Amino acid sequence: MDKPLVSLVRYDQPLEPVRRAVELCGGLDRIPADAKVFIKPNIVFWTKAVNFPKWGVITTSRLINDVVTLLREHGVSDITIGEGMVLGRANDTETSAHAYETLGYTKLRDRYGVKLVDTFQRPFREVDLGDGVKLNFNQDILASDFVIDLPVMKTHAQTMVSLGIKNLKGMIDVTSRKRCHNADPDKDLNFYIARLADPMPPILTIIDGTFTSEYGPAFDGVIHRRDLLAASWDVLAADIVGSNLLGHPPQSVPHLAHAAKNRGRSLELESVEVKGEAVEDHAQYHGWAFPYTEDGTLPVPMAKRGVAGLAYYKYDTSLCTYCSGINGAVLSAIAMTWNGEPWDNVEVLTGKKMQPRPGANKTILLGKCMYQAHKDNPEIKEMIAVKGCPPKPEQIIKALHQAGIMADDQFFANLDRMPGMFMKRYKDKPEFDQGLFTIE
Ligand code: SF4
Repeated sequence: MDKPLVSLVRYDQPLEPVRRAVELCGGLDRIPADAKVFIKPNIVFWTKAVNFPKWGVITTSRLINDVVTLLREHGVSDITIGEGMVLGRANDTETSAHAYETLGYTKLRDRYGVKLVDTFQRPFREVDLGDGVKLNFNQDILASDFVIDLPVMKTHAQTMVSLGIKNLKGMIDVTSRKRCHNADPDKDLNFYIARLADPMPPILTIIDGTFTSEYGPAFDGVIHRRDLLAASWDVLAADIVGSNLLGHPPQSVPHLAHAAKNRGRSLELESVEVKGEAVEDHAQYHGWAFPYTEDGTLPVPMAKRGVAGLAYYKYDTSLCTYCSGINGAVLSAIAMTWNGEPWDNVEVLTGKKMQPRPGANKTILLGKCMYQAHKDNPEIKEMIAVKGCPPKPEQIIKALHQAGIMADDQFFANLDRMPGMFMKRYKDKPEFDQGLFTIE
């Protein structure tokens, strides 16, 4: 049997490298001019409040523009760009509109009639993916003839890497996203996301390695300028190459292991044919998990500062995106409160499967899932429940105060401006070009 083709090229100028990457992996000939094509970028995060680092976080607009140009040259006119961003409010249409405007997608709409879709304003359809996995997918992508999947080449704190298969998580609804982050040890997050590509029409995956991210997926990662593109009509093959480029053997990435098993495929690099650059010339280890103490009770930076009397256990895969979004902020709020005086053996439980531990005097249950799991747990000495889903900032501050951690009442008031603080990391570094996230 022929090996799936993956192209790997240097992306050091607009358009031509994308054309070459696509040609080397099989071209666009299979897409007829009257096909409906759905482009799925990666806009993992957005805020209107402030300019924030997009390098290694969001697909470059240069790649979006180049892909649309190639499709147009090929005669395709029915093109949709769609994303389901993680938003604080279900009825928030302004944030996605702001993202599409800022990233230049509206220019593609005005010039070529490209349709822009916020999936949360569109219908979803339940798809049975087998083995009890049922997820609600955006109807537009399911009804398209071809998908062009444009993930960023990044690591991910929960799934190790986030590439072609994982990028499709943005196509399911909130209920399904929460379902993916379940507490079942056999059918966990990795088991679920391994199936995300299964109901899709044919997918051309083009992994955007203009910038790569360590400790992704968000704006607080460590970003590198790499100028790479990896493309394939076989999403697993693209991810095998992408994972190797990030320095992680795909066999060690649980969702890729599930996806290969489901397809009866190998994850060896030799199982795919790479055209263009050699993978080994560009592979570089990228860290992924946020560093915690060996016993998993505190993030390393807090332990180094000598924080005592607090156990904030390491997140697991059952912590869903919506609680993840607030988790880092809670840790920052606590860290800012530390004055060298040990707290009263407070523990913080998150996600869906953490257990209270002996010796804790106060147990904060962060989120509805933890509250439901432990509301009747006799092992807990003093329960402090934050029942929201996701928990609300004012509830969190109240709980911290009840535990004796006197976090600033106003800490969460300016939370939406916090991503802007990370811009200073990139000051006077011309390789971090903001122009790659606009379309002229
Ligand atoms: S409580 Fe948190 S982890 Fe549980 S479903 Fe809600 S947002 Fe997700």
